[in-house]
Amino acid sequence: MSEPKSLYPELEPLLLSVSKPIQYVGGEPNSTTKAWNDTQVHWVLSYPDAYEIGQPNQGLAILYEVLNEQDWCLAERSFAVWPDLGTLLRAHSIPQFTLETHRPVGAFDVWGFSLSTELGYTNMLEMIDLAGVPIYSAQRGDDDPFIVAGGHCCANPEPVADFLDIVIMGDGEQAVVTLSTLVRDWLASGKAGGRDALLLKAAATGEFYVPRFFTVSYDADGRVESVIPNRPGIPERPSRWVLSNLDAWPYPKKPVVPLAETVHERYSVEVFRGCTRGCRFCQAGFITRPVRERSKAVIEAMAATGLASTGFDEIGLLSLSSADHSQIGEIAHEMADCYAGSSVSLSLPSTRVDAFNIDLATELARNGRRTGLTFAPEGGTERMRAVINKNVSEEDLIATVTTAFSQGWRAVKLYFMCGLPTETDEDVTAIAAMAHNVIKAGRTESGRRDIGCTISIGAFVPKPMTSFQWAAQCPPEVSLRRMRALKDTVRADRECGRGITVRYADPEPSLIEGLLARGDRRLSGLIEKVWRSGGVFDGWREYFSLERWMDAAAASGVEVGWYTCREREQDEVLPWDHLDFGLEREWLYNDYTDGLGASSLPDCRWSGCNLCGVCPAFSVANELAASKENPNGKE
Ligand code: SF4
Repeated sequence: MSEPKSLYPELEPLLLSVSKPIQYVGGEPNSTTKAWNDTQVHWVLSYPDAYEIGQPNQGLAILYEVLNEQDWCLAERSFAVWPDLGTLLRAHSIPQFTLETHRPVGAFDVWGFSLSTELGYTNMLEMIDLAGVPIYSAQRGDDDPFIVAGGHCCANPEPVADFLDIVIMGDGEQAVVTLSTLVRDWLASGKAGGRDALLLKAAATGEFYVPRFFTVSYDADGRVESVIPNRPGIPERPSRWVLSNLDAWPYPKKPVVPLAETVHERYSVEVFRGCTRGCRFCQAGFITRPVRERSKAVIEAMAATGLASTGFDEIGLLSLSSADHSQIGEIAHEMADCYAGSSVSLSLPSTRVDAFNIDLATELARNGRRTGLTFAPEGGTERMRAVINKNVSEEDLIATVTTAFSQGWRAVKLYFMCGLPTETDEDVTAIAAMAHNVIKAGRTESGRRDIGCTISIGAFVPKPMTSFQWAAQCPPEVSLRRMRALKDTVRADRECGRGITVRYADPEPSLIEGLLARGDRRLSGLIEKVWRSGGVFDGWREYFSLERWMDAAAASGVEVGWYTCREREQDEVLPWDHLDFGLEREWLYNDYTDGLGASSLPDCRWSGCNLCGVCPAFSVANELAASKENPNGKE
């Protein structure tokens, strides 16, 4: 294809009348522009939300560099435009564009979407439509880009399966290069065999899921009966990509430095991938097993290179639970030493309920700011925490916060979920007593009255590929009643209530998140209907409308309660059962029933394999940096 023209001359005059126009201008430090005709495969990478949310996405930053390092590939970025610009683009017939060169997205070969929240699905449709590309895979022609999705939502992409050409499950680094090679060969052949030929080749590897080559059938009760390949030569269970040895993939090295404001402005190093703590609600943990740690030396080198290439003055040590890295104490200590006296600050997301969390926070705070201390007991009672496999006693929590208060902290934040399986009203109101005890411990330890405790509570959504994938979702009105009762109980606490703040998120969007998380292909029409009736930016409170979703569900014959608040039978075929994330179904189900019986399971990182199935499925194992440095365990 000849080089597509920049749309900037037509776009620029419109930017005078929209909010935050800088986000559409591009040209940021470290953004990459390449000559179209010197490269063979042209990618667009998107996060279906506004620039301020999408630009800091770590997955996108990694793939952007991995692709642009191939001299035959080109990758540019494109984010969702706000409705003010969306309206103007339509009025002036200007399609969705990339930021690097303002080329029309529809002219590219592959368009990758990172899907990390189901509430971004309507934005994805809006972007595809604005690009002038048909929203349904079946309607696209040989000159349309292949729409590829990755990210955590791909644990069950079925509700958006009809819109996608290819799904990448798991780690994207190797997958995008392999896919690019297939596309390059297909383009070089003059698109021989048409679009289907490329899709068939990708599907035949068993490493890419091509939804159109799988047929779904339903039983008389509306449950999925089977999902089976409809072409010969396609493996029945496409599988996840698992990257080993993260040290060999030290990305991002030179991330784009945003010019417009974004939610995070720091250089993030992923200290490890995967988590085996086994919290039964946590999809991110289950679908990224096992743990693969980066070594201390690589983390420190990446931080130094990343700071030098971006000019950021904050380093984030990123992962699902960074305090669990086997060398995190040394890493925090050495990095705090390294950046002492400079303007560089360090941060690390940690919600561990133990004194080590405080040691780490103290170490990281040496160089300036003292950020808040956060703990995540997640459940209000001992029983509830055993159900979700969050093995923390109230005694532990009080001992931990007492240490924090003795070291000068004056406030803590506690995270909880509401609507968990087996939960009663008392499990939620018990959170008030826990917060009461936190305040009392703080006052006693510090001798001061200005001790604060913030309770942050959100509605639980059962997710695919977790032990709770069979569980009934709690109706939003029940969650709301419990959260309000918690607030009232705190308010009635005359002794400590004034020191406690309760923050809860509206559970209504969680109902739709739950619908889309465990839905099947019959939901694509509903998503389209919501989008066509104006639904975009559903992850934003000011744009989300439950009424719009419920009206569209009624019009599409979708019974929301059936998808969300219904416990599944053990043998029910789940819409995502044909996707192989390595987890043994029977193991997951046993873990579910263990959870209902409040029986806990230790972390396989430290207590031996629990036989979930992932490691043998992909010939991998937990990779701990400390054991790599000292394989024989000698001091
Ligand atoms: S197979 Fe064993 S060691 Fe590997 S993640 Fe599962 S439980 Fe852990």
